[in-house]
Amino acid sequence: HIVSDGWSLGVFVEELTALYPAFVEGRPSPLPPLPLQYADFAHWQREWFQGEVLEQQLAYWKQQIEGLPPVLELPTDHPRPAVQSFRGARHPVTVSAEVTEGLHALSHGAGVTLFMTLLAAFQVLLYRYTGHTKFAVGSPIANRNRADIEKMIGFFVNTLVLRADLSGNPTFQVLLARTKEAALGAYAHQDLPFERLVDELQPVRDMSHSPLFQVMFALQNAPMDELMLPGLELQPMVMEAGTAKFDLTLDMREHGSGTLEGSLEYNTDLFERATAARLVDHFEALLEGIVSTPDRRIADLPLLTDAERHQLLIDWNVSEAVVPPDKCLHQLFEAQVAKTPEATAVSFEDQNLTYAELNARANQMAHYLQTLGVGPDVLVGICVNRSLEMIVGLLGILKAGGAYVPLDPSYPKERLAFMLQDSGAQVLLTQVALLEALPASDIKILCLDRDWKMVAIQSKKNPINHPQPEHLAYVIYTSGSTGRPKGTLITHGNVSRLLSATQVCFHFNEDDVWTLFHSYAFDFSVWEIWGPFLYGGRLIVVPYWITRSPGAFYELLYREGVTVLNQTPSAFFQLAQVEQEQPDKIRPLALRCVIFGGEALVIDSLRPWFERHGDHRPQLINMYGITETTVHVTYFPLTLKSAGTVDARHAMRGSPVGRPIPDLQVYLLDPYLNPVPTGVSGELHIGGAGLARGYLNRPDLTAERFIPNLFSTTPGERLYKTGDLARYLPDGNIEYLGRIDHQVKIRGFRIELGEIESVLAQHPAVRDAVVLAQEDSPNDKRLVAYVVADSDVTLSTSMLRNSLMETLPDYMVPSAFVFIETLPLTPNGKVDRKGLPEPDGSRPELENTYVSPRTSIEKLLADIWSQVLGIKQVGIHDNFFDVGGNSLLSVKVYSKIQEKVGDEVSIVDLFQYPTICALSKHVMQKGSQDLSFQGSRDRSKIRSSRSATMKQKSEVRKGHRSANKQTA
Ligand code: AMP
Ligand code: MG
Repeated sequence: HIVSDGWSLGVFVEELTALYPAFVEGRPSPLPPLPLQYADFAHWQREWFQGEVLEQQLAYWKQQIEGLPPVLELPTDHPRPAVQSFRGARHPVTVSAEVTEGLHALSHGAGVTLFMTLLAAFQVLLYRYTGHTKFAVGSPIANRNRADIEKMIGFFVNTLVLRADLSGNPTFQVLLARTKEAALGAYAHQDLPFERLVDELQPVRDMSHSPLFQVMFALQNAPMDELMLPGLELQPMVMEAGTAKFDLTLDMREHGSGTLEGSLEYNTDLFERATAARLVDHFEALLEGIVSTPDRRIADLPLLTDAERHQLLIDWNVSEAVVPPDKCLHQLFEAQVAKTPEATAVSFEDQNLTYAELNARANQMAHYLQTLGVGPDVLVGICVNRSLEMIVGLLGILKAGGAYVPLDPSYPKERLAFMLQDSGAQVLLTQVALLEALPASDIKILCLDRDWKMVAIQSKKNPINHPQPEHLAYVIYTSGSTGRPKGTLITHGNVSRLLSATQVCFHFNEDDVWTLFHSYAFDFSVWEIWGPFLYGGRLIVVPYWITRSPGAFYELLYREGVTVLNQTPSAFFQLAQVEQEQPDKIRPLALRCVIFGGEALVIDSLRPWFERHGDHRPQLINMYGITETTVHVTYFPLTLKSAGTVDARHAMRGSPVGRPIPDLQVYLLDPYLNPVPTGVSGELHIGGAGLARGYLNRPDLTAERFIPNLFSTTPGERLYKTGDLARYLPDGNIEYLGRIDHQVKIRGFRIELGEIESVLAQHPAVRDAVVLAQEDSPNDKRLVAYVVADSDVTLSTSMLRNSLMETLPDYMVPSAFVFIETLPLTPNGKVDRKGLPEPDGSRPELENTYVSPRTSIEKLLADIWSQVLGIKQVGIHDNFFDVGGNSLLSVKVYSKIQEKVGDEVSIVDLFQYPTICALSKHVMQKGSQDLSFQGSRDRSKIRSSRSATMKQKSEVRKGHRSANKQTA
């Protein structure tokens, strides 16, 4: 290919067809000598491409490329490796004669070529996969627009960077006009060689992707006769090169039979075969849709095959007909009281209440509250410390027929004041000790301790009340993105159906011991309280200090024989750490299940736990959920196998949350509410019996977030828009990707912070990590990683950085690392992102000022650079490519390093570590990395797995090296 191109092949066939018979018969060449040679063309091109011609073409391309994202973020199966390997495969594409004919007719009618129509269709596909509305697709062009060169064999082909603009959700017809304009503009400026463009534009060098575009489209139309030679039988042979030049290349040609045939070449580091096959199916479906309805808006054109649509919307949402108990929570509780009156219902420190005792006290409370006018849908505030009274109070409010508004006393006074006022509660239950912390208001206050005597004179009988399952049970306030909390209205029916629908998964029973670990103002607590009460279990109210002390909590789990544990991942990792750090403290726990919820779980961090406890006892389960849909939505049993592999290439990008629980439906939709295909990220929408009534006093917001269910035939059904991104894995499990508003852009790259966090967590010495994008100044963000390191390991910024550089593209490697002891948690036990410390001002790794070489290896490298680059002074933080380096010079540097240092550095390393500082650290580390694990005995396992990875990695590197030798 370096001396010829596709068009040349046609010329070659033509010439061979003429020459072969002539030579066989002993005749001289029948072909006239060529008037020009390729060298003449090359000479002419150089002369011509100067001054104004060059300037004018460059100006055009610069303007075309301006504002395009540096990478088209296709939803890949595997994270993008730091260095492209160009491993690839192909999948066939066929367009029926009927659709092909339709495409021809459409093109004709719109005054465009078939190429333009196919390109526009491909752009729609890419838009639907990525959400990008502006991006570039590369396309080869024969570049034989002068008659003299038409019959020449040589490398004339050029690559055009075709700008796609799909903004504003145009119809396909309108898009076609835009595509035509861009293509015509490109043809008019096709002479500027692509490599020249790259040279001039100097896009950031990044080994993880090709510059300017990563996806190519080609419609082959070079003339090519069939090769026929006398006395020979010839057959074309298709070669599987096993390579991919780009992330994706769609290559099409018209076939004699009236069809379009072609292939999709895909990078196998990024995509699985099945994913490429789906993409091709989607393209074919899209073409069909375009032919039949070219006036449809591009977001609404069909993409899914009927089978996939059925799978996504119906098969993966099987709603078993769960009959919800037609009762209120306290009525279900009363049924349990009748069954096991003497069983312990709740314990706090050394106090216990049996079911009968708890029932009696709650009844007295309820009767009293009824005298204050509490009844169905009446809200009652409750602000109490963890205690038995808390449970009596909650139950009493429900038994009175009302709904509780939990006010966590640790919340700031203003927030409490807002919630009290917004809820319009007329009665507040509290304790004397908290009176001072409460905002002033004219609400009726009842202290559960001081005023109990008024309650104690009430009847102990179950009160008669009339709430129905559709009446409110509680109103929990969640933070709004605007900063104003909003009260979510949850009914009895919402909660009772949750606990009956999930019973097939958990089989809760009278032997279960649960903890109330979470704040009762966080809806995880609803599950923690009603789980035991509806199934006859025992509830341990965990004292506040113990919730904040993992060691003490571990002891409590052991002492009380807790069987069902609910935790945010952040809290659980601190608990698991107790075992890891103090092996002498390991106790036989009675846990049978641990349920995660509330925030993304980085499964890889569970590995040590699985290694100690195995897969099934306890069973770990990840549940995704939201206050607005009543605690839990999905269910995913975790195993060591699901914890991924050590190899980052196979690691998941997000966090698997499984499938919807039996009476809920999940839909992953694009911004136009169309279902996204498997593997493509979309916003999670939830339908079914868990949906809240809405927000208190916020009809506008309720209408915005609770929308009509487009997929239901039952009138009045709604969908809740979660603001979370997720995608379907091919097996139907859902992978949570993050909050839509957590997505950040840095230098134009769209970044999922969770992806960096999960790669960090795979480092054997990292216990926990959080990554934030920090605004340095407006428009200038940088990534900061907060890392909790394993305590018996020395871990440095450069070790982490180097390890991340092995697996993540450059733009995803944080520029600052902050080591902290533990991650701060919110009152709900989720990571408190706002509570993370600022990194200190020193940014040594980013310093661009001149620093002279310090070590002998730095000096040696700096000498080589200054020789090759012809400059006097090279600082250790100077970027090779900023101070005049280019890929040819890097080959020189490489061979000089080989001479002096030996085989330590590959040419790829020069791109990956483009400063003296980074490169010398890399060289040093190759020999010494394992020594930095000064070990305690349980390190040995990690070390051996680590050296296994090191070995794999060095093999990969050797692969690069030999590949590069060949190229060089
Ligand atoms: P809240 O309403 O306070 O419970 O917060 C709900 C949000 O927490 C969801 O929208 C998710 O962003 C996040 N979340 C809850 N459970 C999970 C989970 N299992 N994995 C990842 N994120 C979760
Ligand atoms: Mg919420």
